[in-house]
Amino acid sequence: MNMRFRGHLVLPDRVLNGTLELHDGRIHAIHPRSRTAHIDAEDGYIVPGYIDIHVHGGAGADYMDGTPQAIRAANRAHAARGTTTLFPTTTTGSPTEISRMINACATTKKSWKPASAEARIAGVHLYGPYFAEDKVGCHSVQGRRDPTPEDFNQYFASGLIRIATCAAELPGAEAFYRAARQRRCLITCGHSNATWTDMARAFEAGMRHVDHFWCAMSSVASLRNLHGTPMQASMEQFVLAHQAMSTEVIADGQHLSPELLNFAWRMKGATRLCLVTDANRALGMPPGPYRFGPADTGSWFESNGLVGMAPNGASNSKSLASSVVALDTMVRNMAQATQAPLHEVIRMATLTPAERTGIARDTGSLEPGKRADLLILDKDLNVRRVFLAGHEIPLASGR
Ligand SMILES: [Zn+2]
Ligand SMILES: [Zn+2]
Repeated sequence: MNMRFRGHLVLPDRVLNGTLELHDGRIHAIHPRSRTAHIDAEDGYIVPGYIDIHVHGGAGADYMDGTPQAIRAANRAHAARGTTTLFPTTTTGSPTEISRMINACATTKKSWKPASAEARIAGVHLYGPYFAEDKVGCHSVQGRRDPTPEDFNQYFASGLIRIATCAAELPGAEAFYRAARQRRCLITCGHSNATWTDMARAFEAGMRHVDHFWCAMSSVASLRNLHGTPMQASMEQFVLAHQAMSTEVIADGQHLSPELLNFAWRMKGATRLCLVTDANRALGMPPGPYRFGPADTGSWFESNGLVGMAPNGASNSKSLASSVVALDTMVRNMAQATQAPLHEVIRMATLTPAERTGIARDTGSLEPGKRADLLILDKDLNVRRVFLAGHEIPLASGR
């Protein structure tokens, strides 16, 4: 089946007013001129489908619920908002809970078809359980542990883990990173009190990414609290100082202020910064109490419709408990907060995450040969139409 799209094509390095030709669910050619077409973006944009490397759920379902029905519900919710590829992300949990999630993702991945209207699973992000004990955030602390080969090898054996997170200072972290490197994963450090020294050791073992920058990670001030003076460089300095390191931001407007979003883009650039949702099951759901992680053992948080909030230990304060919106919101916020040109904003939600996770040959940009995962955006970057491998799927009715 052939199809033509015409309009402002957002390419990796520029916006081109032209025509995109599809053939059998793939991008066949790009013409630098407007031709007759089946679909006209008018004053809007044609962009690659979004790619989310850090996402926990949506539509009432958390990937850790561990059933194909839950996985598919979350994948549908994200696809209906413009995410065409994602990496379901584990929380802390028992070995049984984590294995169950990975198995359910494998089942779902195998039966995926464009007509199912679900975002495609490119792999699993093994995120929990290897976090620092005092940095678990909204994850249940009972499900946290240090990495051991006996534990992590069973997950890697699935062949499905493409992104692997561990706090760099934990005993066993280096062995974990080396095992993940053998599997060619994107290796990341998160929920961590790592010092520069811990990060340098982790880098040697293959670590190249830090989860949700500025959230649940070390800073000069936090390390001073832990270790006293002289003050030490932290994960923040390590990421900013190393061109080989990438990171990600939760640009929901609730976690980070516009100047921090702009700062992250200015410091790391669009090839080393990913937009992620870190979205939980409250996405697309009314405000109220929800569980983060498995339906029966996850910790409770409250969604106010804009973000998740959880009680903060002994104090009366509340802390952020991940986002409740999809990548379309992150893209709009990033475009507003930064001076980045549009093609760079889109890149941070498409080609950059694809490159970092090794799937860029197949998806992540408007280039001949790649899968026709496409979005039509209006001029304000709202998602108007979504195509999975050239097949149009329904949009979400509300946020
Ligand atoms: Zn997190
Ligand atoms: Zn998360």
